[in-house]
Amino acid sequence: MNKKTIDNVGDYLKSNGIKPSFQRIRIFEYLLNSKEHPKVDDIYRELIQEIPTLSKTTVYNTLNLFMEKGIVHLVTIEGTENRYDVNIEDHGHFKCEVCGRVFDFEILEGDLKTDLPEGFVISQKDLFFRGTCADCSRKKN
Ligand SMILES: [Zn+2]
Ligand SMILES: [Zn+2]
Repeated sequence: MNKKTIDNVGDYLKSNGIKPSFQRIRIFEYLLNSKEHPKVDDIYRELIQEIPTLSKTTVYNTLNLFMEKGIVHLVTIEGTENRYDVNIEDHGHFKCEVCGRVFDFEILEGDLKTDLPEGFVISQKDLFFRGTCADCSRKKN
């Protein structure tokens, strides 16, 4: 599902077989509203201010549950960095080498075609570009 079409997070979690606890809803909402593919630390640091009982383990476990149910993807950008994404349609990522932010972009040619031989099953497609974002380009000039 595209993130633009989710209007009730509780119902969305339920329809994916997840019991919508308050913490789960807030974690998913945070991912939904963040355009920058947050890391566990980002999510934890932000939500602990609102939910003092939250632990980093809960954030990890919740993200793992979301991934298991297929509503969150791990963004594979650089080996050491685990970033999470609620946009589970095929799309590309652009990492700015100046500010470090990661942006989504749509893949306009429709489907990403491959020449993989028969028998290969694709579970996720990643397209990764890097460069300088518009904000940083402007600052440079
Ligand atoms: Zn930038
Ligand atoms: Zn993304």
